[in-house]
Amino acid sequence: MMTRRQLIIKLLTENKNPLSLDYIADEIFIDKKTVIEDLSHIAKTLKGKGKFQLVMLPPQCKVCGFVFKGLKKPKYPSKCPKCKKEKIIPPKFKIKEIK
Ligand SMILES: [Zn+2]
Repeated sequence: MMTRRQLIIKLLTENKNPLSLDYIADEIFIDKKTVIEDLSHIAKTLKGKGKFQLVMLPPQCKVCGFVFKGLKKPKYPSKCPKCKKEKIIPPKFKIKEIK
């Protein structure tokens, strides 16, 4: 039996394309908030091992194009700080080997 976090790591390692929070949540039957928590934890764990890293395609505002760059933690903002609209393209995640 794999733990939930091991399953997420497997998903993000084996898929060629970055995966959205919704996709991961649906695959593993957990809510998005838990996915975000797990991803934060996974990012730390991977960092400690130094072989793989969690890469995040930052969320972006659909209306004005604002990109949420420089996020330290996996996050899914609900509102754009620039235009205040709530149309955010969710972040996507992938685990890559560090070369
Ligand atoms: Zn915006």
